[in-house]
Amino acid sequence: DAEVALVGRSNVGKSTLMRELTGHSFDTGGKPGVTRSPNHYDWAPEDFVITDLPGFGFMSGVDEDRREEIKTEIVRYLEAYADDILVAVLVVDGKSVVDIIDRHSGPDEIPYDVEMFHFLRDLDIPTVVAVNKMDKVDDEDERLDALCDRLGLYPPWKQWQDTIAPISAKKGQLEPLDEAVRSHLHEQQRDDL
Ligand code: GDP
Repeated sequence: DAEVALVGRSNVGKSTLMRELTGHSFDTGGKPGVTRSPNHYDWAPEDFVITDLPGFGFMSGVDEDRREEIKTEIVRYLEAYADDILVAVLVVDGKSVVDIIDRHSGPDEIPYDVEMFHFLRDLDIPTVVAVNKMDKVDDEDERLDALCDRLGLYPPWKQWQDTIAPISAKKGQLEPLDEAVRSHLHEQQRDDL
């Protein structure tokens, strides 16, 4: 089956997004990090499955070693299935992502979201960054331009609408993500002809 893989730090709204996309209900705020193996769901009416990879990053009750283990599992999964993954969706929290990236940038530290974005590109997996919780952001263009800058994409963000998709999972405002994902799917179908 064609596959869309969802990755992101915990608490960015991945479960909320999955619920909106699939119509299934998921345990939000459950125990993050407990899901060992990727979960698959159908994204109707499109003919592909969504794989929800475990959330990464700080989770109460999950220690450093376990966090590293989860990260390794995610990386191994993506490497193993890179050929089957049509699109990766990296979900971030639009309200805090830039601050978190800046806080974790240093001589020997690469922020998770930046690292994951480049890792996916290195694997040749077309990647869409779903910038969630935009309902909480009032300086939308500035935030999105700053995010582009941190990801190495030359602003303005409007040039990158196949890559940067501002959404609000909670409000069901997902159109930019839908369009971005579809643009990659159709691109690949054309390439296959
Ligand atoms: P996960 O850990 O990534 O699966 O995150 P959840 O889906 O459990 O969401 C974490 C928190 O963010 C919950 O309190 C959600 O209600 C909230 N949340 C998710 N999406 C949005 C959104 O689009 N806007 C706002 N304001 N809150 C959201």
